[in-house]
Amino acid sequence: MTEQSKCGFIAIIGRPNVGKSTLLNVLLQKKISITSDKPQTTRSQVLGIKTVGPVQEVYIDTPGIHHTEKRAINRYMNRLASSVIGDADVIVFMIDATRWQEDDALILEKVKHTKAAVILAINKIDKLKNKALLFPLIEKLQAKFNFTHIIPLSAANSENVSVLEKEIIALLPEGPHLFPDEQITDKTERFQVSELIREKVIRVTSEEIPYSINVEIESFKDEEKLLSISAIIWVEREGQKPIIIGVGGERLKAIGTQARKDMERLFNKKVFLRLWVKVKDNWTDDERILKSLGYE
Ligand code: GDP
Ligand code: MG
Repeated sequence: MTEQSKCGFIAIIGRPNVGKSTLLNVLLQKKISITSDKPQTTRSQVLGIKTVGPVQEVYIDTPGIHHTEKRAINRYMNRLASSVIGDADVIVFMIDATRWQEDDALILEKVKHTKAAVILAINKIDKLKNKALLFPLIEKLQAKFNFTHIIPLSAANSENVSVLEKEIIALLPEGPHLFPDEQITDKTERFQVSELIREKVIRVTSEEIPYSINVEIESFKDEEKLLSISAIIWVEREGQKPIIIGVGGERLKAIGTQARKDMERLFNKKVFLRLWVKVKDNWTDDERILKSLGYE
């Protein structure tokens, strides 16, 4: 007997920094979505596609919903995050086991109005010194909404992630696969490469930088044994250039080395990467410029 073909969309939602992109990368066993300890690392929606036999799971990693920010890029992210809730077959609503915040409550309000199954994923349980604290937390959350499942897990340690995945698969509708079985993301290689560079800039530099950079891939040449890539890191102000370049260029060098290693792992190929840092004024505040950079 052959198993029924299944395929469905799973939206991973939650406030910034709860671990959504980390979960996606663990599920896919590939770095599909970049992560960091700074909020709003994920700027655009990323699809992670996993096909095992008759089952195709299509994950949607969303930027965090954030209600206070006024800048254009945040308005854009809010629209994105709200629209995916309506399209999903399963919603994984992720929270941090160590604290329930106002933003969590706001997202839960949005989630309540969907027809999709909602799984509450309580992440970062590795950070709980006393695991018994989970019981009152689960009780409190059960009272807020009739979740299909409540699953405590640690995305970073892969703890309980397989339990979550099993429940997700059980909820997927029967139907044909929507993507070729070998496809793992909807993003182009150029986009993946630009995101890996952005991740390293965010990780290597200080707090104020993440909002103001953008990475443009100038050229991407796939030569037989080598990927040759040249990219521009756009910053908002002249003063941000030295922050990224560092003393004697050591920061930019670290960014380049780390990004190149990730790229070589992703594509199974040697990579030659060249990076430049250039200044562009106020791009985050101008939706037109955002569009020209590919944030549709
Ligand atoms: P997102 O904004 O929701 O996509 O969050 P990220 O996936 O970028 O993760 C935010 C931070 O939390 C990163 O520094 C992750 O390494 C960390 N993180 C994610 N999952 C866990 C977890 O299960 N335990 C711990 N201790 N940290 C985690
Ligand atoms: Mg993310």
